[in-house]
Amino acid sequence: MKIVLLSRNKNLYSSRRLIEAAEARGHEVKVVDVLRAYMNIASHKPTIHYKGEPLEGFDAVIPRIGASVTFYGASVLRQFEMMGVYPLNESVAITRSRDKLRSLQLLSRKGIGLPLTGFANRPDDIKDMIKMVGGAPLVVKLLEGTQGIGVVLAETQKAAESVIEGFMGVKANILVQEYIKEAGGADIRCLVIGGKVVAAMKRQAAAGEFRSNLHRGGSATLIRITPEERSTAVRAAKIMGLNVAGVDLLRSNHGPVVMEVNSSPGLEGIETSTGKDIATQIIEHIEKNAKVGNTKTRGQG
Ligand code: ADP
Repeated sequence: MKIVLLSRNKNLYSSRRLIEAAEARGHEVKVVDVLRAYMNIASHKPTIHYKGEPLEGFDAVIPRIGASVTFYGASVLRQFEMMGVYPLNESVAITRSRDKLRSLQLLSRKGIGLPLTGFANRPDDIKDMIKMVGGAPLVVKLLEGTQGIGVVLAETQKAAESVIEGFMGVKANILVQEYIKEAGGADIRCLVIGGKVVAAMKRQAAAGEFRSNLHRGGSATLIRITPEERSTAVRAAKIMGLNVAGVDLLRSNHGPVVMEVNSSPGLEGIETSTGKDIATQIIEHIEKNAKVGNTKTRGQG
């Protein structure tokens, strides 16, 4: 097969592993920096050009689109879909999952366990909003944050009020969430491929920290998940419409709760901590599903 890898840097671990795995199985991979691709949307025959040449004859596209380029990246991916190229994850599903509020609304509508969450634009009554999510301690999150940056634990009512006021003061979009203390600074990343959890790792926050992000000094280990956790992760990926997803769960007193569904899960932590070859499983999923014109949306999203 001829596969396009949408990635801004082919030297990143995940990109490297996907290229290796595809080539080892006899496929050809072309790495495309989305920001440098340009498209013709005016004709009935959609095209994409890259460095002066048309990108033609591809069977599948693997999107690894960074959060900061979601908008343009999704439009390039949509163009591939319009050309009938099989996307590992569809553009609509990626944009859906990148919108944290929309994701939480979709998941809650389908009965997925979530931390009690409030969001607001300019709440006229911050005290009431805090009451709505059960009072302090609570977690305040910047919507634009990644890798744990902008995730704050407010332990008292007063701290919560001032953190919310502070974020509001700089016009940041935030959400306010019940603090799942019993998770003990750990979360579980479930890697879902094609409706199955193929690997799971526990990320434990460093001492004195509640955020378990590896970028924040957390450490990852292999974990056995419960059947309920497994089905929650699979359902969450399905609701978002993602073939490949990293579903982040917290173990709460009221069962597993989903924090986030990631459409471009990193492979380094999960492959290292579980010893599994996830990249090859992703390529095998593409082999099973990629046929010209197999994409369901065909760029209609
Ligand atoms: P990011 O998307 O920036 O990684 P997250 O929402 O995943 O932000 O939060 C970062 C980390 O903080 C999580 O991995 C988790 O360990 C911790 N965390 C986030 N929300 C909660 C919560 N409601 N209760 C307990 N811990 C939380």
